[in-house]
Amino acid sequence: TAAAAASTVRQVELEKECELRIEVGPNSPLRLRLVSGTAEVFGTEIPPEIWVTYPPRLKFAVFTWYGAKIEMDGITETEYTADETPMISYVNVHAVLEARRSRAKASPPDSDMAQGPRVIVVGPTDSGKSTLTKMLLSWAAKQGWKPTYVDLDIGQGSITIPGCIAATPVEMPIDPVEGVPMDMPLVYFYGHATPSVNVELYKVLVTELAQVVEKQLAGNAESRASGMVINTMGWVEGVGYELLLQAIDTFNANVVFVLGQEKLWSMLRDVLKNKPGVDVVKLQKSGGVVNRTAKVRQKSRGYKIREYFYGLLNDLSPHSNVANFSDLNIYRIGGGPQAPRSALPIGAEPAADPTRLVSVNVSTDLLHSVLAVSFAKEPDQIISSNVAGFIYITDIDMQRRTVTYLAPSAGELPGKYLIVGTLTWLENN
Ligand code: ATP
Repeated sequence: TAAAAASTVRQVELEKECELRIEVGPNSPLRLRLVSGTAEVFGTEIPPEIWVTYPPRLKFAVFTWYGAKIEMDGITETEYTADETPMISYVNVHAVLEARRSRAKASPPDSDMAQGPRVIVVGPTDSGKSTLTKMLLSWAAKQGWKPTYVDLDIGQGSITIPGCIAATPVEMPIDPVEGVPMDMPLVYFYGHATPSVNVELYKVLVTELAQVVEKQLAGNAESRASGMVINTMGWVEGVGYELLLQAIDTFNANVVFVLGQEKLWSMLRDVLKNKPGVDVVKLQKSGGVVNRTAKVRQKSRGYKIREYFYGLLNDLSPHSNVANFSDLNIYRIGGGPQAPRSALPIGAEPAADPTRLVSVNVSTDLLHSVLAVSFAKEPDQIISSNVAGFIYITDIDMQRRTVTYLAPSAGELPGKYLIVGTLTWLENN
């Protein structure tokens, strides 16, 4: 297309309530600036006049409420203007949430009324859940609230690396390039990029995360009134549907936004009918949401891990460390060798306990694994502990019995126990 070839500076005039949808080309970033008017990217305003660099492959939209002139420089895969967007309906629900936050703030701090909206965004894959989540958080932060961002999406989440669920307060509109600051989110490591590997463990971790978030909110009236926005996975059938119900229940969500699927909306509306005070609202999916194939998803998981160690723009320098086998305490959660029937009491069935802790011996199987560093002080706290960060195994020397791994920084790890799952990464992919 013409767009794909264009690499010189060009201007786009955006009419009110229109958006410019862009997919940055695969090899080089795009520079973009707001020449006049006002515009935002997923709820976060673009600063006037300054050139902003958007990294390769980023898919985003520049939306304007009142009209804007944009200038771009660089190669895009796609760029087009759309005048039909669901933004009006999104900002309308935001206004309803704002009213609830104000009402919560004006209520006696210890009463139930002081709890702001607990929003959960659900829908099939590629329905725009993450995008709507970010918009709602950024609009709230812009108005001075401090909502909590909860991400239960272990495949394509955006708070930290894949294989995790996480929560973090949002104090500023989310930067469309940098995302939420990765400094201190509350992270639980599931260790797999698909939930079906160990559904029980996923549930346990969601419960742990919810309990800690609940505690944090209880001690902070501002955060409590601001409420939360929860992003979920695109798995909405069968067990995936059960997990959504569990998330709604565990986090006491009282606003459910359903994107892009009539059936899911009607099912949730029917089961939640009996729960007083829970609103189930159907919202239109944006035509701008880009579908991602399994391969693209896998690649984007790799980029997320690369970003953790190297930074979005290769601006971090991770440290390569060497440890002896005997220095590492690695655990796996769930599965492991089953007890033979002969070792069990009569009548008992051998079962792989999904939350059993299994000590792992170092072997070449661990090569290219991404491990989490647990905050646990004792092994039996591993499941209920959040994690400090991650390491990546780059070499295993069976002769010398040493492991070489990449960590964000040099020096001792922030915890003694490491958790391994099935999460791997090939550095050069
Ligand atoms: P998943 O279930 O896989 O997590 P999702 O439902 O959360 O997907 P998003 O991540 O919000 O979907 O959107 C998919 C992709 O489409 C993202 O790369 C996002 O940046 C892009 N996107 C969303 N809305 C628009 C838009 N209006 N214009 C251009 N790109 C968009």
